[in-house]
Amino acid sequence: MTRVVQKFGGTSVADIDRIKAVAQRVKAEVDQGSEVAVVVSAMSGTTNQLVDWAVQAAPLHDAREYDTIVAAGEQVTAGLLALCLQTIGVDARSWLGWQIPLRTDDAHGKARITEIETDTLSERLSSGQVAVVAGFQGIASDNRITTLGRGGSDTSAVALAAALNADRCDIFTDVDGVYTTDPRIVGKARKLDRITYEEMLEMASLGAKVLQTRSVELAMNHKVRVQVRSSFSDAEGTLVVDEGEIVEQEVVSGIAYSKDEAKITLVRVADQPGVAAAIFGPLSDASVNVDMIVQNVSEDGKATDMTFTVVKEDFERAMAILESNKESLGYERLVSDSNVVKISVIGVGMRSHAGVAQRMFMALADKGINIQVISTSEIKVSVLVSEDYTELALRALHTAYGLDAA
Ligand code: ADP
Ligand code: ASP
Ligand code: MG
Repeated sequence: MTRVVQKFGGTSVADIDRIKAVAQRVKAEVDQGSEVAVVVSAMSGTTNQLVDWAVQAAPLHDAREYDTIVAAGEQVTAGLLALCLQTIGVDARSWLGWQIPLRTDDAHGKARITEIETDTLSERLSSGQVAVVAGFQGIASDNRITTLGRGGSDTSAVALAAALNADRCDIFTDVDGVYTTDPRIVGKARKLDRITYEEMLEMASLGAKVLQTRSVELAMNHKVRVQVRSSFSDAEGTLVVDEGEIVEQEVVSGIAYSKDEAKITLVRVADQPGVAAAIFGPLSDASVNVDMIVQNVSEDGKATDMTFTVVKEDFERAMAILESNKESLGYERLVSDSNVVKISVIGVGMRSHAGVAQRMFMALADKGINIQVISTSEIKVSVLVSEDYTELALRALHTAYGLDAA
């Protein structure tokens, strides 16, 4: 018996007509004889609205109540889809995180799944009942509701597929698959038939929101066969696979961008041992994630500028910490800029090919785009540029690496 997990994102369940269409897709899978567990997101826009209400009620909210509020969207969709399935003669019921139960740690707002008890769910699937699972949510050790971070339904789906030993995990979304870059920004973006787990992991963590990063990690570790495909067509999607399954590997397979970072510069900080530790220690103690870092060459041997980026969510906190440590850090002033975008080119082929970064720098220079910070790893190069150039930079790089669709 084939066991399948199908996940439908917000746009795919945006209204009752679309939920009815999803029910037909689930029915088609059931009619083929598969056991089906469906994971649903909240109807599009709902989670944003819920977050907004939580913030209006209390800007510095209790994270446990935040989760109680924002998890609600998925409950509605799960119930609605179960109803639509029953109406067309498919045996189905909804499952909330606590009913499964899907257990997580206590990190409210960004909880990690620790265990999924599948005995009951598995029995129901074997008896032919479709399980409609509310994505994004779980239950902490103290029985409080948790959520898995924005985009977390992808992770619910992959984790469930791993726990249920599913043969496939199909992620249905509003694009046909994973593209060389965001198809909504670059018209010439090309759909990839396959992408490696590693590249997908980089793409996701560097901003491509088509899959939540954690879902790719789980898929890679548990060898879940993930396919990203469209809710609105039968076109073949993108398979996320091991490197060995890719026949012809491009040097660069994708370009991602993230507007979620802000840049901070400490102007004229002492150029002496221990300064970096003194700056980044308190930030790390406060769980502020620092990403890109660059230290300027000191002109006089006494003082230098230190520039780095943090995620926008942590920006205010980072500034407050740096300001309160001004005396001990001894910098002249703080300069910040949130009008920046991080653009990254990604490809496992970079391991064996030189010149990838150089091509990036040249393509950006040709368009007169100034690079503010650079960071590299084995399979990616990232640059920070002004947000105003997002589209121009993405298009120029897409062409420079020969990725444009014919
Ligand atoms: P869902 O609601 O189905 O979870 P998301 O909005 O979270 O969908 O993710 C799909 C979106 O990801 C697409 O609409 C697209 O704009 C964006 N995206 C960004 N980068 C890529 C990429 N490389 N390939 C495909 N989609 C991408
Ligand atoms: N509804 C949640 C969100 O908007 C989870 C998801 O859609 O994956 O982030
Ligand atoms: Mg998503």
